[in-house]
Amino acid sequence: MTVATQPLHQLTVHQARAALRAGEISAVELTQALLDRIRAVDPQIKAYLTVTAEQALEQAALADRRRQEGDDAPLLGIPLAIKDVLATREIETTCGSKILQGFKPPYSATTVARLQAAGMVLLGKTNTDEFAMGSSTENSGYFTTHNPWDLSRVPGGSSGGSAAAVSAGAALAALGTDTGGSVRQPAAHCSVVGIKPSYGRVSRYGLASYGSSLDQVGVLAKDVADAALLLGIIAGRDPLDSTTLDTPVPDYGAALTGNVRGLRVGLPAEYFIDGMQPEVEAAVRAAVAQLEAMGAQIVPIHLPNTDKALPVYYLVATAEASANLSRYDGVRFGYSAGDDSMFENIRRTRGEGFGPEVKRRIMLGAYALSAGYYDAYYLKAQQVRTLIKQDFEQAFQQVDVIACPATPTTAFHIGEKADNPIEMYLSDIFTISVNLSGMCGISLPCGFDDAGLPIGLQLIGPHLGEESILRAAHAYEQSSTWHSRRPTLTGVAD
Ligand code: GLN
Repeated sequence: MTVATQPLHQLTVHQARAALRAGEISAVELTQALLDRIRAVDPQIKAYLTVTAEQALEQAALADRRRQEGDDAPLLGIPLAIKDVLATREIETTCGSKILQGFKPPYSATTVARLQAAGMVLLGKTNTDEFAMGSSTENSGYFTTHNPWDLSRVPGGSSGGSAAAVSAGAALAALGTDTGGSVRQPAAHCSVVGIKPSYGRVSRYGLASYGSSLDQVGVLAKDVADAALLLGIIAGRDPLDSTTLDTPVPDYGAALTGNVRGLRVGLPAEYFIDGMQPEVEAAVRAAVAQLEAMGAQIVPIHLPNTDKALPVYYLVATAEASANLSRYDGVRFGYSAGDDSMFENIRRTRGEGFGPEVKRRIMLGAYALSAGYYDAYYLKAQQVRTLIKQDFEQAFQQVDVIACPATPTTAFHIGEKADNPIEMYLSDIFTISVNLSGMCGISLPCGFDDAGLPIGLQLIGPHLGEESILRAAHAYEQSSTWHSRRPTLTGVAD
C-alpha cells in the first residue's frame, strides 16, 4: 500500500498503521498533518475543546524512537481524540461544563490509559453536551460543534465533537460515550462508524458518571475495521470498574469475514414509524435488501415495548444523574463560587456552574427518587425496563442481529430543537432501548438524503454480541461506498 497519493489526515487507523510500519511515513509527519488539519477546519466545525499540540508532537517523536528500537505496539504513533468526559491526566477535562473549567485530573480513564499503552498520540479533547446530556452539543457550556456536512446543522450529540472531528479528518478516530445514543446518533449524523459496546464490556473508570446503569465508552471511526481494532484495545476486565466483565475479549478483527450468508437479520416493525424521514427509511430498507442479496436471511420481528423506552429512560437516567452529579459541590473539583458559608457556597457553585439542561435533569431525577414518588416513578420505570430487555432477549432467540435506523431524521438545524426538550429527546428514540437492555449497537453510513446529509444504519446485537454486529456492518460496508465519502469544507482543501 502506498499513502503518497492521499493526504495523511484522510487515512484510516489501519492504513496509517501500515504506512508507519512500512516506514513510508513517520509519526511526527502524521501528527503534524493532523494538527495542520485541525488548524484548518476547527475554526469552522469547533470539534475540540482542547488541542494538546505540543504534547502530541512529543509523543509522536517518542513513538518514532520506539519504532526504531523495534517496538510495534498496535497504535504506535496513531493520533486520536478523546471526548472531554473521559479523564486525561494533567490535561484539562471539563465534561463540557463550566463547573469543571480548569480541572486537570490526577489520573487517566482506563480507556485512555489503554490507548496510550498501545502507543496512541493524543490530539486533544472533544466537545460534548454538558456531562453528556444532550443530542446536539448545543448543551455544551462552551460552544456548539457544527456538522461538517452542513455547518448550519448540529453534528448530533453528545459525542458530537468526536464525530465531527473524525468526519472532517481532524482525528483518525476518537472515543465517545453512549448512555442513550451519544455515540451512534452523532456517528449517523456525521457519516462515520460508531459502536456502543455491551454493558460491562468496557471500563468506565475515569468516565464522569451520568447514568451509571446505562453508560458505556465507545469508538467513533472512519470504517468498521478501525472500530473493531480500537474496541479490542479498550475492552476487557478492569479491576478499577467492578461492572466490567471477566469474559475474554475476542479478536474482533477476525470477525470481519465479509460473509453474512445465513446470518439472521431481524427487522423490527416498531422502528419504522410515522413521522420518520422517508429518505431515512428508504436508505435503511435498501441496506437491509443489500444484506439479503449477500445471503442474510431477513426476519420480521416485534419489540412491542419500544414506545415505553423514552419515558423509562428519562426516569432512570435522570435519577442516576441526580445522584452522580451531587459530587460537584465547589469543594473537590473545578469551579467554586467562593462563598464563606458552606451551604451558600454549594448552592451558588451549582447554580452558577451547571447549565439549564443539567439542572432540569437533576430536578427531574431528584423528584423521581423522592419519598412518596419512588414507587410510582423510579421503581415502575425499572419494571418496564425489564420488559424492554425481555423484548430483545426474545427477538435474539430468532435472529442474530437487528437492523433499523440509527435516528428518525438526518441532522437538524442548530437552534431548531434547542427550546423543546421533548423534541430533542425524541431524536434518540431508536438508540435508547439498546442502553436500557445492555445490548450492543453500531451505526454506520448507509446513504444521504436529498439535502446531502448522511443517514446511519443501526445494527443491534445481543449482550456481548459485538462480533455479529461488526461482521454484518463490515460486510455491508464492503459492498457499498458511503463510508468513503468525506465532507467538503469551504476554503479548505480535501
Ligand atoms: N441524548 C440522550 C440524553 O440526553 C443520550 C445522551 C448520551 O447517550 N450520553 O440523555
